[in-house]
Amino acid sequence: MGPDERAQIDQLYQEIILDHYRRPRNRGSLERPDLAANEANPLCGDELCVHAQVRAGRITAVRFAGRGCAISLASASMMTERVAGLTLAEAQALADRLRALLAGPDGPAGEDLGDLRALQGVRKFPVRVKCALLAWSALCKAIAP
Ligand code: ZN
Repeated sequence: MGPDERAQIDQLYQEIILDHYRRPRNRGSLERPDLAANEANPLCGDELCVHAQVRAGRITAVRFAGRGCAISLASASMMTERVAGLTLAEAQALADRLRALLAGPDGPAGEDLGDLRALQGVRKFPVRVKCALLAWSALCKAIAP
């Protein structure tokens, strides 16, 4: 991959993150969530609450609320889209895959993670990794407190 191509991909990923930040999906709360958890990242000031509805072992609706930086909110928005329809185990596995992707420059390529790969730019900035994983950590905490 040449530098031009890499720059174009960075640009595309940047746009995906900005789009979710500006037009967050599934922001709000559920009236009677089956699962709920909060997570905070004091280093950045992010505070998120995740609600989920579960039917027959599958996540049927997810909402997130709270405040935070662009990365934490964009990642939360992406999370709500990606985990709807998954079983609890599948959602946990996806969170693990994202955690591995962001663990460091030698992490897996994550070709099948789709738009979530947009978050991999943060692995150069360890402080931001927690921002990107915050909503996912809240979801995992809600599933297995
Ligand atoms: Zn943050």
